Amino acid sequence: MTYELNEKVRDLVPYDAVAGNYKIRLDANESFLEPGVTLKNQFLSAISDVKFNRYPDPMAKELCEKFARYYGVHPESVVAGNGSDELITVILGAFLRPGDKLMTFSPDFSMYRFYGEIYEKTNIVTEKNENLILTPGEVLDAVNANKPAAIILSNPCSPTSLVMKREAVLHIVENTDALVILDEAYMDFSDQSILDSAVQYDNLIILKTCSKALGLAAIRLGFAVSSKKIVKALHSVRSPYNVNAMTQTIGCVIFSNPGDIRSAIEEIKKARDGLYQSLLQFEGQRGVKRIVKPETNFVLIELERAEFVYNELKEESIIVRRLGDYLRITAGTKEENESLIQALSKIIRRVSQ
Ligand SMILES: *Cc1c(COP(=O)(O)O)cnc(C)c1O
Repeated sequence: MTYELNEKVRDLVPYDAVAGNYKIRLDANESFLEPGVTLKNQFLSAISDVKFNRYPDPMAKELCEKFARYYGVHPESVVAGNGSDELITVILGAFLRPGDKLMTFSPDFSMYRFYGEIYEKTNIVTEKNENLILTPGEVLDAVNANKPAAIILSNPCSPTSLVMKREAVLHIVENTDALVILDEAYMDFSDQSILDSAVQYDNLIILKTCSKALGLAAIRLGFAVSSKKIVKALHSVRSPYNVNAMTQTIGCVIFSNPGDIRSAIEEIKKARDGLYQSLLQFEGQRGVKRIVKPETNFVLIELERAEFVYNELKEESIIVRRLGDYLRITAGTKEENESLIQALSKIIRRVSQ
């Protein structure tokens, strides 16, 4: 009559998204743009046609077709998920057996290793060099030395904001037998996608999300793009109605409005470039070690006293993400970025005295 939580989950705490009311949130890499009124009205009118008493389309067929058309991939190479997080859990949970080696890189998206642990994989972490960017040689050396069943990485990378060239990524995929799980969550802000090659390889799964460039973090929608064989396996192991009807409906509307998507991405890229340019004024100041030129919707800066600066920003009601000596700052609206720069000037002046 005593159920004991196993040691794997006993001491876990829920994901530490910073709770609380802060004026400016630049911590989660969401889009700062809300859908426009016309688009929002299309969402609402489409939702009013949802049959709420019925399960949604288990294959999310129309949605996957619209996604495929927007990204120029084959519709049968696409699987939808409840955010790309769900797809990561499904892939790691089912495609790898307990104890199988999962290779991650550091720094990279922290959830990969977390899920690896929960699903009882053997996590192998390869540290990135000082430049924060992987070369295919380094990846393949690590793969050959450790023989992982799968490797998972983001490109462009969160938190580094850097992108690997598509030739480099293809070289990795072509020269390993490991399953390559390639997370292109931020590729809409860059131009090195290998989505067009996804179906050619039987060891590649590419992940996409609507949470970043598309500005739809609220609806929880992600996609996997892969070969026929892997797509069939993914459909077989995911839960049958994993993407709810409202999310499917809104997803169909957004991908039917490619012009809106593209103009939002341009606006976010402009804001990102503006934020990066403004941050460059701190380059060379005492305590500021590096400001990385981004290929994403956020900027990474390396500081001597990142924790202090993070806490001081919080005092000003501005939340960014801290990872060790780094702050990862999401591009916000013009006003938000200006407030951040103002606060940072003050704090950095104080730190460097
Ligand atoms: C934000 C993010 C995701 C998010 O996925 P959801 O679709 O919101 O679950 C996945 N990968 C990376 C690298 C991210 O930064």
